[in-house]
Amino acid sequence: QPNGTTEEVSSRIVVCVRKRPLSKKERSKNDADVISTVNNTLQVFEPKLKVDLTKYTEVHEFSFDKIFNEESNNMTVYKSCAQPLVFAFFKGCKVTCFAYGQTGAGKTYTMMGTNEEPGLYALALEDIFRLKAKPEYSHLGVYISFFEIYGAKLFDLLNGRKRIECREDAKQRVRIIGLEQRFCTSVQDVFEILEQGAQARSTGSTGANADSSRSHAILQIVLKYNEDGMKNEEDPDYTFGKLSFIDLAGSERAADTTHSDRQTRMEGAEINKSLLALKECIRALDQNQHHTPFRGSKLTLVLKDSFVSVDSRTVMIANVSPSASNCEHTLNTLRYADRVK
Ligand code: ADP
Ligand code: MG
Repeated sequence: QPNGTTEEVSSRIVVCVRKRPLSKKERSKNDADVISTVNNTLQVFEPKLKVDLTKYTEVHEFSFDKIFNEESNNMTVYKSCAQPLVFAFFKGCKVTCFAYGQTGAGKTYTMMGTNEEPGLYALALEDIFRLKAKPEYSHLGVYISFFEIYGAKLFDLLNGRKRIECREDAKQRVRIIGLEQRFCTSVQDVFEILEQGAQARSTGSTGANADSSRSHAILQIVLKYNEDGMKNEEDPDYTFGKLSFIDLAGSERAADTTHSDRQTRMEGAEINKSLLALKECIRALDQNQHHTPFRGSKLTLVLKDSFVSVDSRTVMIANVSPSASNCEHTLNTLRYADRVK
């Protein structure tokens, strides 16, 4: 292990919860914080009414591999859940980190972060380029792709949100036809690319653009053998390791299947399908099942190699809001994460 000094969780599947602080708006409305955390256990105090309309509180308790509360910053989350993935990636593993949760719960804050508080993308990339600079990795190059899945369609965010296709080839390898892969040599390189991607995500040329809460954003960092380096005939892409960061669509959208608007209903159905398929695939991984139902959705199909690979590692970060007004969504998120662990 390149750096064994950090506190980390290192099983094949790690499920964590991250509780964000109450926002200014929530505090100004006197919205209550209904989540308390102690070590790896979390309690949700759900405000309820009885039939006789008296108020009472139902307490729900959950345990996870790791719980981060409002005191934790992105660096803490990184060291504990994503850095072990980066180390595994440099050993040639296919590793995946998901941010799951309701819109507004902190997925993008965790993944992308802000200028003052860089997220997991930036923190991982700093480690990646630091490690990559070591002589033992000189035969490898870092390549980036960034795309989104919206309504079962793939759009390349590094190529003006161009529609791209994903299929399985004769050897059952999943290939994304036409996906841009950019060679990068610094964190700065990647961030310039990500900025373009974020721009494409909100303004792309393909007409109806996905509101980011309705699409999954996938950042893939691939370590590839240099053309003149060691080649792997089984793998035409010369892939050594793969790290995927997935900022999932808002989990509450999966319930839009009864919405009055047809388009919204269809998007909701697709999100529902992909989040269910994801849960099934992670469970199959955990139980070492021979059959992984990755064909259940575009999202899981795209991640096939990461699900079926013997040396895969998966981290799910379930993001939750602390507020009473979001309690129902929070419980849904925690129940989903509980089924995955
Ligand atoms: P999501 O991507 O899940 O929809 P965001 O990451 O956009 O949610 O977060 C919603 C808002 O809450 C943003 O303004 C974000 O800056 C803020 N926020 C989220 N998590 C935290 C946190 N841990 N600490 C401080 N602010 C946070
Ligand atoms: Mg977001």
